[in-house]
Amino acid sequence: MDELDICPIPPRPGPELFIQRLKAQEEHAFTIYSEALFGINVHFVGNRSQPHYRNPDNCPGCKAKNVKRWKGFLHCWNHNLGQEVFLELTPASALSLHSQLGGVGPLRGNRISVKRTKKDNGRLVISVLTAARDAGKLPPSKDPLESLVRLWGLADVNDHEIVADLVARRQFE
Ligand SMILES: [Zn+2]
Repeated sequence: MDELDICPIPPRPGPELFIQRLKAQEEHAFTIYSEALFGINVHFVGNRSQPHYRNPDNCPGCKAKNVKRWKGFLHCWNHNLGQEVFLELTPASALSLHSQLGGVGPLRGNRISVKRTKKDNGRLVISVLTAARDAGKLPPSKDPLESLVRLWGLADVNDHEIVADLVARRQFE
C-alpha cells in the first residue's frame, strides 16, 4: 500500500488578506500601505491565476502554454470596503502610477482612485488623489506573497520557497 499522507498541521484558511481585482465599472479609493510595488509573473487559466516558475521545464503553466502575465500588488486600505486588501494592478496601471508620482517615491501614504472600465478585463484607470503624508502613522506594510501562496494552495514550505525564489520584485526607483 502507498504511504498515507498523515499531516498533524491542519491546512491554513484562504488568503490572509483579500486580493482585490476590481470588476467592471468599479471605482474604489485606496491609501497605499506598501513601501514598494510587488510584481510577479503568473499564468492564467480563464480567470484563475497560477504561479509561473522561472524554469519553463518545471512550470506546469508554461508546459500547458497558458497565458503568462505580469501582475502588480499593493497593500492598501480600501476606503469603500473599509478593509485592508492587496490591490491587483495591471502593467499599464502600475506604470501610470509610477509616472504620476514622477518616477520617485514615496509610494506609501498616497491616496489613489482606481477604476475599471467597461469589462471585467478592461483597462484600470488610476489617479493619485492626495500625495503621501503622515506615512509614518500608517499600519506596517504587508507582503502579498503569503496570501498568493495560500491562494494557489501551496501550503507546503518547499513550494513556498520555490515561489519566493522566483518572485520578481519591482521597486520604484
Ligand atoms: Zn510558466
